[in-house]
Amino acid sequence: MKKHNFSAGPCILPQEVLKKASEAVVDFNGLGLSLVEISHRSKEFVEVMETARSLVLELLGLQDQGYQALFLQGGASTQFLMVAYNLLEKKAGYLNTGTWSDKAIKEAKLFGEIIEVGSSKDEKFNYIPKGYTIPDGLDFLHLTSNNTIFGTQMKKFPKTNAPIVCDMSSDIFSREMDFSQFDMIYAGAQKNMGPAGTTLVVIKEDILGKVSRQIPSMLDYKVHIGKDSMFNTPAVFPVYVSMLTLQWLKNLGGISAIEEINEKKAQLLYSEIDLNPVFNGFANKEDRSIMNATFNLAEDGLKESFDSMLRDAGINGLNGHRSVGGYRASMYNALSLESVGVLVDIMSEMERKG
Ligand SMILES: *Cc1c(COP(=O)(O)O)cnc(C)c1O
Repeated sequence: MKKHNFSAGPCILPQEVLKKASEAVVDFNGLGLSLVEISHRSKEFVEVMETARSLVLELLGLQDQGYQALFLQGGASTQFLMVAYNLLEKKAGYLNTGTWSDKAIKEAKLFGEIIEVGSSKDEKFNYIPKGYTIPDGLDFLHLTSNNTIFGTQMKKFPKTNAPIVCDMSSDIFSREMDFSQFDMIYAGAQKNMGPAGTTLVVIKEDILGKVSRQIPSMLDYKVHIGKDSMFNTPAVFPVYVSMLTLQWLKNLGGISAIEEINEKKAQLLYSEIDLNPVFNGFANKEDRSIMNATFNLAEDGLKESFDSMLRDAGINGLNGHRSVGGYRASMYNALSLESVGVLVDIMSEMERKG
C-alpha cells in the first residue's frame, strides 16, 4: 500500500515524476543508456540542465531580469557559507527565525560582522519577529521564508536598500509572491523539488563582484554562472528529477494553482488542530506555515494510541524534528488533499475515543 507521506525532507514527490525518473535510470529517452551513465556534457543532459534552469525562472516569474538559476551541490548548508563568502564585506543583517537561520548566522560570522535584526529564540521560535528595524549600510539582509522545524512562515517580507537573500528550502514553488523582491534565493532540492543532492540558487548577477576577498572556484557564484551551472559534474539525477517536478508543476498551472491546493490542505489541518481539544498547535496562529504544521498532544499518555492509528492508516513521517518533539505534518506540493483528510479523520477519531 502506498503510504501517506508527511515527511519533512527528503519528502514526497509526485508519483508520475518518480515513475518517469525510474524509467530514465534504466533507459533515458530511448538512448539505450541510463541517465546516470551518460556524460553530463552530452547534448541530452545539457538540455536537461538548461530546461531545469529556465523552468525555475519561468515559474518564479524572473526571466529577463538579470537573474541566473544554478543547480549546485553541498545542500542549503553550503549556501550558509557561500552567501557570506560572496557577499559579505563588512556587515550583514540576519533575521533569526529558527535552527536553520541560527546555523546560517554561525557560518556568516566567519566572514564579517553579523547583526541579528530580530529573533524569536525567546519563545522557542514559535513566531516570526515583527516591527524590528533594519540598520543602513548592510551588505545584505538574510531571511528564512519558512521554518521547517518550528512550522512558522513569513507572510510579509521587509523592505530595505540592501540586497535580500532568502533561504526558501522548504517553501519554494509553494506560494505566489513577488520573487523579484529578493536578490538571491536558495533551496535544497529535497523539500519541495527533487531528491537530495542538488541545491537551487537563483541570483541576481549584479550583486556579485563586490567583496575584496579571493573566492575559491567551487564557492564562487560567478564561476558557476560563467559555466552555465556545469563548472564541475552536476548532480545529474537530482537535477533531472527536479526538472520533471518543475514540468509537473507547470502543467498543473504553476505556483498559483498549487498554492490554492496548499491553502486548502493547511486550512483543513489547522481547523482540526484548533477545534480538537486533544491537540495543541505549536506555532503562533498568524505565522503558521502552510508547508509544515507543528502540533502536540494535549496529554502525552495518548501518544501510543495516536501513533498506532497513524501506522494503521499508512501515515508516514509525522514525528516532529528531534530537537522539538511533538508532531509535524509536512504538506509539500506533491501531498494530496486526500492524504491530509486521512490524517484529520484520525485526529477526530482520537477526540471521539476521548
Ligand atoms: C532542510 C533545510 C536546510 C538544510 O538543508 P541541507 O540541504 O540539508 O543542507 C536549510 N534551510 C532550511 C529552511 C531547511 O528546511
